[in-house]
Amino acid sequence: MRRNSLVLLLLAFGTLAAIPAPVGPDGTPLTVEALRGELEDFGFELAEAYYALDAYGEEVDTEPIYEKYAYLDDPALVDWLRSLENDATDPLERRSYAYLVKNLEDNLLWFPLEELYYDYLTTEASAVIEVGGEDIPYRQMDDVIFREDDRDRRRELWTAERTFIVDEINPRLAVVVEATRRECRELGFDDFVDYYAKINERDFAKLTGDCLYILGTTRGLFEGLARERAEEVFPDLALQDVRSYDRGQLWRTDEFDKNFPAEGLIPLWLEFTAGLGIDFQSLGNILLDSEDRPEKQPRAACWPMRVPEDVRVLVKPSGGFTDYETLFHEMGHALHFAFTDPGLPYELKLLGDDAVTETYAFAFENVFENPAFLKEAVGMTDDEEIRRFRREQLFTEISGLRSYCVSFLYELTLHGVEADPLESYRALVDWAGVWTRTDEEYDTGVYYTNEDFYTTSYLNAWLLETLVRETLTDKFGDEWWRDPVAGDFLEGLWSQGYKATPGEIAAELGYAEISPVPLVERLIRQEEETRPGD
Ligand SMILES: [Zn+2]
Repeated sequence: MRRNSLVLLLLAFGTLAAIPAPVGPDGTPLTVEALRGELEDFGFELAEAYYALDAYGEEVDTEPIYEKYAYLDDPALVDWLRSLENDATDPLERRSYAYLVKNLEDNLLWFPLEELYYDYLTTEASAVIEVGGEDIPYRQMDDVIFREDDRDRRRELWTAERTFIVDEINPRLAVVVEATRRECRELGFDDFVDYYAKINERDFAKLTGDCLYILGTTRGLFEGLARERAEEVFPDLALQDVRSYDRGQLWRTDEFDKNFPAEGLIPLWLEFTAGLGIDFQSLGNILLDSEDRPEKQPRAACWPMRVPEDVRVLVKPSGGFTDYETLFHEMGHALHFAFTDPGLPYELKLLGDDAVTETYAFAFENVFENPAFLKEAVGMTDDEEIRRFRREQLFTEISGLRSYCVSFLYELTLHGVEADPLESYRALVDWAGVWTRTDEEYDTGVYYTNEDFYTTSYLNAWLLETLVRETLTDKFGDEWWRDPVAGDFLEGLWSQGYKATPGEIAAELGYAEISPVPLVERLIRQEEETRPGD
């Protein structure tokens, strides 16, 4: 009960006299400007440590960093900023304080959880699972199953992975979920749902409605595509017999990968940016590291170290379509950060709504759904191949979208309702899913959601990206990626950093609200466009 009484007082009296600023590391009262600098340095030093781990496999030692910035773990800072937020009359100034509060509250929540989370992460990172005489790092398991052609071997791998998840991962995540609930209550919130929605100003009721709408309106579409794809990939298997370890096969792009050679990746990216009038190589603030080093993490990532002057992208191409869509996604983030107005305060450059940067990442990743781009930039010449590729992409997209909706709805239950998670998960997945599951197939997913509600950033980005895409096409045509004026338009959006919320960006594009209707309409249209001919 650290701050509850003060929060109550604020509610009762509206505004109190301004709370004096707490003392900073140099012993004098902090200013907002100094706090910004401290938070930026703290974020940069942590990012540097984790970047070195991802890029060069260097051991992470964040303890000295946390010690150096331990004074930021102080509820008095939050109270001070909240009082400034309450007193501010300018909406943008209020937003600035709200973003700084978010960052500080996240630190307050994170400090006591770090050790538990670290235990889970190191368990996951260090685990090696022995399957039929072969040792496989746990983190590579899903990928190994994905690439395995032999069904019996896939079942064997999955069974071993499941045992590890049930015995080692789920109990640790259960502890993290419980501890998160406890810490949120300590900070004066009902639970993690309440905390996340308030701190991030997310309307979870609206998003719940959007998810139910999406699940309802795309169900038939998805069932049809799933059946079609399953018949293609597993001609001898009935749909209800397709198991968890089989489903990855439906998303494989092997037959199209010849169009996406490893050596063509960077040239295509340069061609794409040149079309938008951006001379990528002369930008100077994005470091693209695509070198293949054994100690480098295979997962691609964009690291906004300091915005906009130091943005880094790590990719490890292995050939094939996934490399391409991954690079374009990460570069969507990178350009957003690299073009952010350097004059904005730190919080409006980096601490806003993540749905904004995910929107730009999605917009670039999804250029591979554009038939003109596939033909003219990628160089796919066969119309039938393009149709089949786009249809598989559509199946993948709807599948991902639906699973994010389910994941969000489940997280609401996991964090908000103290019920048996397995029972809740089972009920929700059975209601929303189109796949038949055996008893063993539920408990691998029960804690394996995106347990920090980042799902909500992706879902909001999914909705907003459709509006960005439609605007680009309406203004600049299907070949918007070849028009430097479209590049200028995007630069204008990127330069705002996190200043505008997703709703404000939608309004700027001429839409009254962010609704799931344009997204669902687009999916229905793409299904019609890619239907096999008779
Ligand atoms: Zn992203």
